[in-house]
Amino acid sequence: MRAESSETRAGALRVGVLALQGDVREHASLLERLGADVLRVRRPEELAHVDGLVIPGGESTTIDKLSRTFGLQEPIREAIRSGMPVLGTCAGLILLADRVLDSIDGQESFGGLDVDVRRNAFGGQRESFEAVLDVPLLDGDPVRAAFIRGPVIEQVGPGATALAALDDGRVVAVEQGALLGLSFHPEISGEVRFHQRFLDWVRAHANG
Ligand code: GLN
Repeated sequence: MRAESSETRAGALRVGVLALQGDVREHASLLERLGADVLRVRRPEELAHVDGLVIPGGESTTIDKLSRTFGLQEPIREAIRSGMPVLGTCAGLILLADRVLDSIDGQESFGGLDVDVRRNAFGGQRESFEAVLDVPLLDGDPVRAAFIRGPVIEQVGPGATALAALDDGRVVAVEQGALLGLSFHPEISGEVRFHQRFLDWVRAHANG
């Protein structure tokens, strides 16, 4: 998939943010703050120039449709199969899930995470809330997580690993190989550690 080295600036990793819809800017500025060289990906040629991809929050049905319109669905699936690191937040997690519950008719995902994800799992009144999550994998303080009409991971298949759950036990973060999926939005609460973990994978993938 990779057409050239990601080392475009001195030591900078070339990372894509899928820029069809959603909170692209928040991810791009966080990744830039962490030293990455960010490319907004809207077409397959752009995907071929990155060593990792962030799928932002937004509306999974819209991102799904636009990815097919722009001819990106198959290239993204192929990139995932080939081991390219991908971080998906909220709608991005839905798009990484192998199985989507409460999807709309005809909704598809890229897949890759062996999970069942339910869209809009927190329903009407509680559409947005913040929670403090223990994420044993991350060093330091608990994670302040912003949930905005977020999905929940209802089943974690044998291929995937749960990373964090709400107090009631519902899983909200999962990883599998080089895929990381979060129900919430670290990019808007100033939480950088998931993006750092993703960038570590991107570095290993780029040099591998
Ligand atoms: N409810 C949205 C969806 O189904 C996800 C919300 C979000 O990404 N903040 O795609």
